[in-house]
Amino acid sequence: MSSLIAAKLAAVQQQIQEIAAHCDRNPQSITLMPVSKTVAPETIREAIAAGYPLLGENKVQEIQSKAAALADMPHQVHLIGHLQTNKVKDVIGLVSCVQSVDSLKLAKKMQQRLEFVDSHLDILIQVNTSGEDSKNGIAPEQALDLIDAVCAFERLSIKGLMTIGANTDNEEAIRACFRQLRQLQIAAQHKYGAYSDFAVLSMGMSADMKIAIEEGSTLLRVGSAIFGARDYAAS
Ligand SMILES: *Cc1c(COP(=O)(O)O)cnc(C)c1O
Repeated sequence: MSSLIAAKLAAVQQQIQEIAAHCDRNPQSITLMPVSKTVAPETIREAIAAGYPLLGENKVQEIQSKAAALADMPHQVHLIGHLQTNKVKDVIGLVSCVQSVDSLKLAKKMQQRLEFVDSHLDILIQVNTSGEDSKNGIAPEQALDLIDAVCAFERLSIKGLMTIGANTDNEEAIRACFRQLRQLQIAAQHKYGAYSDFAVLSMGMSADMKIAIEEGSTLLRVGSAIFGARDYAAS
């Protein structure tokens, strides 16, 4: 018996295969990460059971409360929402990656905490490629300087870059965001000469997945296409 969630995941995966084939990309190079914010643990369990143990969440408190409910199922969580410096101590140990590092102040706080608990953490640098005020992320012009500074924090391992596409129906505007992230990745790889580093490009959600794949995404953060429209009132 396959669940509704398993069927949705299979459908999204099928789309990924088709889009990848169209733009000559290996679908294996693209990871589908279900975004389970506001989704109940029982439903999240279905996604993990269907073979998707890497989840995206955007709130520290929600990650804490779900950790217990999902403790018996091996899985990993990436923080994809804004992280306040006073929440750093709460999230370390609960996530395998923070995708939303966008300031030196935050990186410094994370480094200090990781030293204190003697641990390491993977991160992505979040870039505000759309320039929308409502979005977090470092300005593209400042991204390389931030990467430079964060490289000095040996407890943090920069795996790549993350962005959220422009909130518009204009495909070209969305594409420009993703293309800019890819350009920054290339610039960073050039600068540090290590092509295995900065390999992750976290970009693309339910509505702009196709454009993101065409522009080189390696990590899709997909929520509503899997779990349906979010019910914020219930969470
Ligand atoms: C909610 C969220 C997503 C998923 O959005 P959908 O449109 O539901 O696919 C992806 N990335 C971030 C940062 C989010 O907050």
